[in-house]
Amino acid sequence: MIRELHEQLKSGAITSVGLTEEYLKRIEEHDGDIQAFLSVTREEALAAAKAVDEKIARGEEIDLLEGIPGALKDNISLAGVRTTAGSLILDNYIAPYDATVVEKLRNRGAVILGKTNMDEFAMGSSTESSAYQKTKNPKDLSRVPGGSSGGSAAAVAGGMAVWSLGSDTGGSIRQPAAFCGIVGLKPTYGRVSRSGLIAMASSLDQIGPFGNSVEDVAIVFSRIAGHDRLDATTAEAAPDKPFENYLSGGIKGLRIGIPKEYFSADLDPGIKKLAEEALEKFRTLGAETVEISLPQSASALPVYYIIMPAEVSSNLARFDGIRYGMRVNDAKEREAGNSTLLETYLDTRGYGFGTEVKRRIMLGTYTLSAGYYDTYYGKAQKVRALIKADFEKAFESVDLIFSPTTSETAFPLGAKSADPIKMYLSDIFTVPANLAGVPAISFPIGEESGLPVGGQLMGKWFDEETLLRAAHAFETSA
Ligand code: GLN
Repeated sequence: MIRELHEQLKSGAITSVGLTEEYLKRIEEHDGDIQAFLSVTREEALAAAKAVDEKIARGEEIDLLEGIPGALKDNISLAGVRTTAGSLILDNYIAPYDATVVEKLRNRGAVILGKTNMDEFAMGSSTESSAYQKTKNPKDLSRVPGGSSGGSAAAVAGGMAVWSLGSDTGGSIRQPAAFCGIVGLKPTYGRVSRSGLIAMASSLDQIGPFGNSVEDVAIVFSRIAGHDRLDATTAEAAPDKPFENYLSGGIKGLRIGIPKEYFSADLDPGIKKLAEEALEKFRTLGAETVEISLPQSASALPVYYIIMPAEVSSNLARFDGIRYGMRVNDAKEREAGNSTLLETYLDTRGYGFGTEVKRRIMLGTYTLSAGYYDTYYGKAQKVRALIKADFEKAFESVDLIFSPTTSETAFPLGAKSADPIKMYLSDIFTVPANLAGVPAISFPIGEESGLPVGGQLMGKWFDEETLLRAAHAFETSA
């Protein structure tokens, strides 16, 4: 889709302003129902589009993504624009600078339509924990779009943005991509800068793209990847290249691992069937499929729910009512002796954070506290190393690992809101890639009772090229 739009822009068949207006109109028409957007940056989008049209009129070359409108998850800083991360505590927070990914996209002339809804601070699998609104799945408005990047997924699936960015800490790009029937990529940890991303769990968070096709995702990914001196965890060694130019090699001889632990009893039979058909298709395309074992699979979710809350409790300590966002007790009252500094912290955090965020801050604070640190956090770190070792071993004999992205299709709104454990189980197949740091992509493999089903490919560290090539081969074969 991006490539076709690019050709039309170059040939003069369409203008970027016209295209942007069309998408703004779709947001106006459809977002009342879908509620994917928290803010729409109409004027800025049109100004960026106009600059691209002027460049084309001057006969200058334009980049593939130039003039193509997309959207950003609301935890990605966009200078001068309200950035809430879905939380009341940041209700009035205006980002003072652009995230590195935004700066990179702006340098390429991408048009940004606005900021999308998300679970509060990216904690959730349904986008229902947003303090502002509940995003609906464009494929079925009675169902969730997945989460936490549900707004970004729904914007693309609902035809209100050509591409979008999300963040993935335990599945928040791949699971909503699967639920909404689009493509989503979680890059290798350290491939894309996290500078300007409001942190959830820093050793797991990674920004990545959503799109209607593997090629669209490759185009956006190529433009946000790379070393950044503002994020010391970004790798210097990873080569930057236009991944969209390396999609067509086919997958003959590629070895795809089938982790037996993922295909066990709890998997929805319809999804299992589609996953098996997908494997058959990979074989038809010339790949070899081999059963493998990732023995620590069952530990992944428990380990995630120790390590992630520990990092959350530390990262969210900065929201104290003094430095960012809202403050419940104001300075005047404090001066008048009506409230202490501690009360300001307690009132602001008590009012500003929602239930799920508080739950995780408490869990994390507990597991990091003296006397419990070694029992919980220390032990979880050791098991995390074993999970990573499972992947190292598997990748000695296979190039990629395939599984369904989720064990079920998009669930009805409200179905899991009262039961956090049920909600946490949504990430059973996606969390291991974050713990190990490997790249993973979700792409449509069919429908079950009219709802989209996603397949997941996980790749070797920094080998997004093979991952994208295999997903593209799947997508473009009949
Ligand atoms: N659903 C998972 C969680 O609630 C993952 C969230 C994410 O990837 N940001 O933690």
